[in-house]
Amino acid sequence: MRMTRRTLLIGAGVGAMSVLLASCTPEPTPTRTPTRTPTDPPPTFDGPAPTHSMRSAWSTDPFSRGGASFTPVGAQPSLRAALAEPIEQRVFFAGEAVDTEYPGTMRGAIRSGERAATALRTRAAAGERIAVVGAGLAGAVAAGQLTAEGAEVTVFEARDRLGGRVDSRVDEVWPIPVQLGGWLLGVDDTDLRERFAGDDTRLLDLVDAEWRSRDGAVEAVDEAVLTGALESAQAQAMDVSVAEALTENGADPEEPALAALLAAVTAASGGDPDVLSSWFPPALPPESYAAPSADLTIFIETLLQGLEVSLSSPVSRVAYDDTGVSLQLGTGESLSFDRVVLTVPLGVLKHGGLEFSPALPFTHRGAIADLGVGAIETIWLRFDEAFWETEAALWHVVGGDGVIRTWFNLRPATGEPVLVGLVGGKAAGKFAELGDQEAVVAALVSLAPFMPSDDEP
Ligand SMILES: Cc1cc2nc3c(=O)[nH]c(=O)nc-3n(C[C@H](O)[C@H](O)[C@H](O)COP(=O)(O)OP(=O)(O)OC[C@H]3O[C@@H](n4cnc5c(N)ncnc54)[C@H](O)[C@@H]3O)c2cc1C
Repeated sequence: MRMTRRTLLIGAGVGAMSVLLASCTPEPTPTRTPTRTPTDPPPTFDGPAPTHSMRSAWSTDPFSRGGASFTPVGAQPSLRAALAEPIEQRVFFAGEAVDTEYPGTMRGAIRSGERAATALRTRAAAGERIAVVGAGLAGAVAAGQLTAEGAEVTVFEARDRLGGRVDSRVDEVWPIPVQLGGWLLGVDDTDLRERFAGDDTRLLDLVDAEWRSRDGAVEAVDEAVLTGALESAQAQAMDVSVAEALTENGADPEEPALAALLAAVTAASGGDPDVLSSWFPPALPPESYAAPSADLTIFIETLLQGLEVSLSSPVSRVAYDDTGVSLQLGTGESLSFDRVVLTVPLGVLKHGGLEFSPALPFTHRGAIADLGVGAIETIWLRFDEAFWETEAALWHVVGGDGVIRTWFNLRPATGEPVLVGLVGGKAAGKFAELGDQEAVVAALVSLAPFMPSDDEP
């Protein structure tokens, strides 16, 4: 394959990776909120102000168009398997949305990349040229595996960076890299725990939960309320939403403590209770997490070591038949390959971010239309000193009208007063629309139950 672009070798501390630079599309990057100082607190908020903050913007990002895929009421996980079915043995889909077991997670993305690479290799002859579209986890895993098995692989990535919805920002003001996308691992994420645990990566334990309303500490909601309602719903003839399942079981999804638990489910899955399937609900949030302390980009660079990666190269059109694949880039340039692995997010496919010729089979179009994509956004706040006493790492905001109800307190694990808010679904969509200043205020207002009260010294 001949390409006319400049080839650079970059080391990045993990060995050479060949990066082809295209000159086309401007890079979209999640928004950082401007750095603040304690003397420049956000307006309309009278309380502790962060010295630094940083936030994501996945909902408006043209190369993600949302945070994660979810299974809406009435849909089946088999839609994900249908999307993963190779087309003409030439076009292979990967990415978190096609994993039936762990959709919407890093684990699902990795599994999908491995699966697509394995499926492709069983069909490919030696020496074939393979394109991988997208350099997130799924793409990096697929490209790395195919290369290790002897294929000639080129990766096309729309952004000017690797990682996709894994986005680590290293800045010395933060005790660990700010993670604007995926980073947390559950206890059963043993594969990822092993992959991420390296010489430079400590896995920080985020343990113990605290539930608070403005009136003080609140009993944790009994998860059996939710699991019992889901079990009942799963015995019914028709799928209903998680919210309906709760109502039918005598629970009130608006009850403040239950609403806080549901907010945590939505922050992890992107789907609101009124749209999530009760037959195929997302996993409940674990009681503790492990948080990698390192720049996760290095992990992706390692997977792509020695490969040709073309950054800032959005693919706009995929033409295919039973003899091969042609990819058109944003520049208008077309390149031919024997097969392609497409890892672009479901949100991008739903928004028609890729044109297909011929149109995708109905099964694939049906899966793209019927699976859900939800918003997930995060905000990191650093304070000069902690205004809170608790050493609990997981905070649930009960009641009130704050937009972010799920928080991680990094002080116990890092020694530094850093809070990370996570919000999903419609609330995340609303949060994404706020200006930077307003977003910080909204985050601080949400934290009211954890703020010192007026009568405290
Ligand atoms: C705020 C947030 C927090 C999260 N937290 C967690 C967590 O704690 N734990 C967890 O397990 N998961 C978490 N996730 C989910 C996890 O990040 C994703 O499931 C995973 O990273 C998806 O990987 P992927 O490779 O499937 O997709 P992506 O990482 O999105 O990769 C797709 C790539 O395709 C590129 N692309 C898009 N369009 C084009 C095009 N036209 N041409 C070329 N390239 C294109 C994109 O730029 C991107 O790099 C979180 C997600 C969000 C948004």
